[in-house]
Amino acid sequence: MPDLIDKVLREVEAAADENVAFAADLIRVPTVNPPGDAYEDCAHVIGDRLHALGFGVEYLAAEDRPEHTARYPRVNVLGTWRGSRDRPLVHLNGHFDVVPAGDGWTLDPFGGVVRDGKVYGRGSCDMKAGIAAAVYAAAAIRRAGVTLPGTVEISGTVDEESGGFAGVAWLAEQKRLAAGRTDCVIIPEPLNVDRICVGHRGVYWGELTMRGRIAHGSMPFLGVSAIEGIGRVLQEIRERLQPALAERTTAVPVVPDQARHPTVNINAIQGGQPFGVSQSPCVADECRLVFDRRFLIEEGFDLAKSEMIALFERAVAGLPGSRYDLRDLLVVHPTRTPADSFLIAALERAIDRVLDRPATLVASPGTYDHKHVDRIAGVPHCVAYGPGRLELAHQPDEWCGIDDLVNATKVMALAILQLTGAVEI
Ligand SMILES: [Zn+2]
Repeated sequence: MPDLIDKVLREVEAAADENVAFAADLIRVPTVNPPGDAYEDCAHVIGDRLHALGFGVEYLAAEDRPEHTARYPRVNVLGTWRGSRDRPLVHLNGHFDVVPAGDGWTLDPFGGVVRDGKVYGRGSCDMKAGIAAAVYAAAAIRRAGVTLPGTVEISGTVDEESGGFAGVAWLAEQKRLAAGRTDCVIIPEPLNVDRICVGHRGVYWGELTMRGRIAHGSMPFLGVSAIEGIGRVLQEIRERLQPALAERTTAVPVVPDQARHPTVNINAIQGGQPFGVSQSPCVADECRLVFDRRFLIEEGFDLAKSEMIALFERAVAGLPGSRYDLRDLLVVHPTRTPADSFLIAALERAIDRVLDRPATLVASPGTYDHKHVDRIAGVPHCVAYGPGRLELAHQPDEWCGIDDLVNATKVMALAILQLTGAVEI
């Protein structure tokens, strides 16, 4: 039914200004996380628009989560447009929290400035334009007069930037996102308009506490320096771990290319007496380090952790009298959409049709809400696809191109038509 497809695409074009204005409205609500400002306001901006478009709207506060407080309520919004049947059910999810603006802006990060074919502001590409694209994809289908043979849900959720536990994870725990109910999930994160993101690497954050023995700083040979112990850990990482990681490459299409290998970063080191106080001459008996090991699906968590432990053991073996404790801070297992997923196929066809070029499959070097959809909801058919350029996320003068926004909206609209069974695209 090419007529129907053309009609829907024309509706997307006709609503382009509305779509951009809505993205700008969302940017003007400063949903900064941490601490989680203005979430309720933003949920209502999304909910009001969905309601105006004929969606049933619910506000779902994660009241049982510790981060939900009277000052910072964790309010999610879920809109439902049921066509003639409950299934297939296509869920589009966007997080509406943003990271702090930071320095270096040449315009108001929460002004929602539209200029030179771009909408600017913190959260423009990550990912308020993506939420606007999801909303206006559904709007175009409605305005084209299509009765869907399935159901579309659009959710706006909190706290993705801090792990998503009161957002997507919570919705999944409440069974609002669930296998046997939800057929597929599209997360419009800014992965570039012709790329489909099919998963992410794993994350292992750990806190290492190295302990030595205190002594007078004039006679360091009588003590055991925990800072020296951490120095040995750093040396092991540099000389043995990093070369080993550089040898490993994943078959998953992680971008950028350097992230096809596993990586390790030291997020923090703290040891000895704190700065800002008057110092006394002591050998440091404690030094702590936080590491961030990103591992491949081919490696798995057990290997990543056992390698770190072996490394710490070698470091303390070289420094008699030292010992260590290890505390796991965060473990996220890698995730990957099945290669033969109907969701990937639908988006590939929609991208080809709208942009007239083939889609590229990518995977994220970091992590995002996909993990909760996969692991808690048990819905394997999940991808990230949305407008905006990944490298602009969390940057000063963040922006999303209006062309990108409109094209991604078209792609999502066609994908919804295909996925609900309305039309073969
Ligand atoms: Zn994001």
